[in-house]
Amino acid sequence: MKVNEILDKARAEKRTILTEIEAKEILEEAGINCTRTILAASKEQAVALSEEIGYPVVLKISSVDITHKSDLGGVKVNLNSREAVETAFDDIMSAAKAKHPDANVEGISVQRMATAGLEVIMGMTRDPSFGPVLMFGLGGVFVEVLKDVAFRIVPLEKIDATEMVSQIKGKKLLEGYRGQPRVDVPFLEQMLLNLSAFIEKTDGIAEIDMNPVFAYEDGAVVVDARMILEEN
Ligand code: ADP
Ligand code: MG
Repeated sequence: MKVNEILDKARAEKRTILTEIEAKEILEEAGINCTRTILAASKEQAVALSEEIGYPVVLKISSVDITHKSDLGGVKVNLNSREAVETAFDDIMSAAKAKHPDANVEGISVQRMATAGLEVIMGMTRDPSFGPVLMFGLGGVFVEVLKDVAFRIVPLEKIDATEMVSQIKGKKLLEGYRGQPRVDVPFLEQMLLNLSAFIEKTDGIAEIDMNPVFAYEDGAVVVDARMILEEN
């Protein structure tokens, strides 16, 4: 589906929250690399998709009513076989029923399991006076505890993307700290530029949250994404 079709569908359903699947589809259209993610409506479909994508896979609850999927046992990673996928499917469904009985669950997303990388985050929020603003930071405790993030107003110039990535306090981690490989900083900068270009030409998106993005020596991939639309 193209960006406008996804946005129109959500608006027609009077939703402001997109599913992870929809958010990743839009980001892919914006030139931002995401893990391949497909909706399974049944256990059989989840198995078929897992075999098509190739093990290991990740299964996640897909519901517009559930924002923090892992908090309720809605994310199962590193599934290596048909049996593992079947068990994960049942476990996720029963966890969702137990902890969030009113949630409207459309199914379970099956995704390629991304190789571990350095976790970074990227996002967009709208400032009442400056308009859309992009955010970049290191994932996990760096953002949650240390608030080590950088912001720039859209549109970004190349120099803005470069500065954003280089101004965070944990920058050394990007450069390969203690035997870890250095990450592909130009690739991360290009992701921010692509996001900026996309925001500039697309109306109606209030917020984007890519958390985490796995950064590698070569490239990077968005592993989880959330998108919120503006109220009409
Ligand atoms: P939440 O809604 O709780 O933020 P996430 O989709 O971020 O759920 O999944 C939780 C964690 O599981 C992520 O932070 C990441 O470490 C891991 N994870 C999720 N999806 C994948 C994936 N496709 N490949 C590898 N790891 C993943
Ligand atoms: Mg997440």
